[in-house]
Amino acid sequence: SKRTKIKALLESTQTDIQVTVMGWVRTFRNNQFIALNDGSTNNNIQIVVDFENTDEALLKRITTGASLKVVGQLVASLGKGQKVEIKATEVEILGDSDPEKYPLQPKKHSLEFLREIAHLRFRTNTFGAIFRVRNSLAFAVHKFLQEKGFVYLHTPVITASDAEGAGEAFKVTNFDIANPPRTESGEIDYKQDFFGKATNLTVSGQLEGELGAMALSDIYTFGPTFRAENSNTTRHLAEFWMIEPEMAFYDLEDNMDLAEGLLKYVISYALENNREDLEFLSQRLQEEEKSKPQNERSEMSLLDKLQFCLDNSFERLTYTEAIDILKESTPNKKKKFQYLIEGWGADLQSEHERYLVEKHFKKPVILTDYPKEIKAFYMRQNDDGKTVRAMDILFPGIGEIVGGSQREERLEKLEQRMAEMGIPAEELWWYLDTRRFGSCPHAGFGLGFERLVLFVTGMGNIRDVIPFPRFPKNAEF
Ligand code: ATP
Ligand code: MG
Ligand code: MG
Ligand code: MG
Repeated sequence: SKRTKIKALLESTQTDIQVTVMGWVRTFRNNQFIALNDGSTNNNIQIVVDFENTDEALLKRITTGASLKVVGQLVASLGKGQKVEIKATEVEILGDSDPEKYPLQPKKHSLEFLREIAHLRFRTNTFGAIFRVRNSLAFAVHKFLQEKGFVYLHTPVITASDAEGAGEAFKVTNFDIANPPRTESGEIDYKQDFFGKATNLTVSGQLEGELGAMALSDIYTFGPTFRAENSNTTRHLAEFWMIEPEMAFYDLEDNMDLAEGLLKYVISYALENNREDLEFLSQRLQEEEKSKPQNERSEMSLLDKLQFCLDNSFERLTYTEAIDILKESTPNKKKKFQYLIEGWGADLQSEHERYLVEKHFKKPVILTDYPKEIKAFYMRQNDDGKTVRAMDILFPGIGEIVGGSQREERLEKLEQRMAEMGIPAEELWWYLDTRRFGSCPHAGFGLGFERLVLFVTGMGNIRDVIPFPRFPKNAEF
């Protein structure tokens, strides 16, 4: 008969039927009880082996990590914690696992250790839960936007534009290193690196996304983006996934509403569809909290935090108002924020963002209208001549999760800002064309997918929520 996944078997209301399961051995006790897992759930199914009638040599090969095919009867279990188990009639070893060499022993491993064996960490309960939650969140993003009529637009990975202009783009090179193209003065000519054109890996699909929005109305990208920044933090990766909706005829209010709606929808989707995994992660976190000093422990469980996020509207205020709050918080209280407020105009550091979210408002915050000097060229300029219609969404424990804005749709204003910032108009002629022909108000944002997964899973390090993390010196697999 066909193989059934363990999740389905554990939920089965039918017993005394013959079933076939396949999976990996987690433990094998008393030569009799196999805990088998196939990744469909963190719960293992118990397999009872008729050891008296099983070949000794075969029993020896049932080791942690080995993969098996088991045929047997699904029966009601007398044991605690499980409703059903399988009485095996046939056990076949599909792949052996040498217990002396298998790195995943049936015990709790540290996240640091598991990061070193990222190729095998999928087989642990923690990472099984994380990647099932990640999968659900990705699906929910598509579901939410598709149901609103958004078009999923694929923007290029190789591009000549650096949307943020932050100089964090990885160059794309296809020339022969031994024989590179050279300028007249003999230097390597990087302007020729992609079949004669200078290109880089995309840092954001926004500029191309805007082209789509100004024809299809509502689009989104959802793909990998790359930043050659020093990503030695717990919040940055060199390769991360970003969801970038871009909407014609939207102003900043509409943009905030959409972002808040999307975040709440995907979180509630995970709460509904990944209850078991989130309970597991919540439990895991609570155990971790116990090892912290009392005053540093989080008062809320992960599940409560997620629910709280759904039940409250995000606090909306301007950058200027936020600076005033931070200034108030400063006076001599350990001088913690003093260095920040060099005055109005400084960018917020993550401590400041976290102060606003975790201490002051105690909920997600949307900050708007940042000084134009600390934001990208494409944001719509306010009449005060100093600020732009930017929005950053800040989340507890995470800091910035979304960055977005209403875009500058007025050609002269845009050209003037680009000139001020030294961005050559010739390079972005195609972008400026949308302002020349049928320009319209529009807005969009970028949601860092791993930051979202980080928030929902309650994990502490962004390297633990992406299957194959890319950070300095880490790109082997
Ligand atoms: P940060 O201030 O945290 O460095 P940013 O302002 O540079 O972020 P944006 O250019 O606004 O980032 O990108 C949009 C979103 O993409 C961010 O809000 C964040 O969620 C995510 N993001 C940005 N850089 C990274 C990174 N290196 N790794 C993972 N996610 C990132
Ligand atoms: Mg950054
Ligand atoms: Mg930022
Ligand atoms: Mg940003």
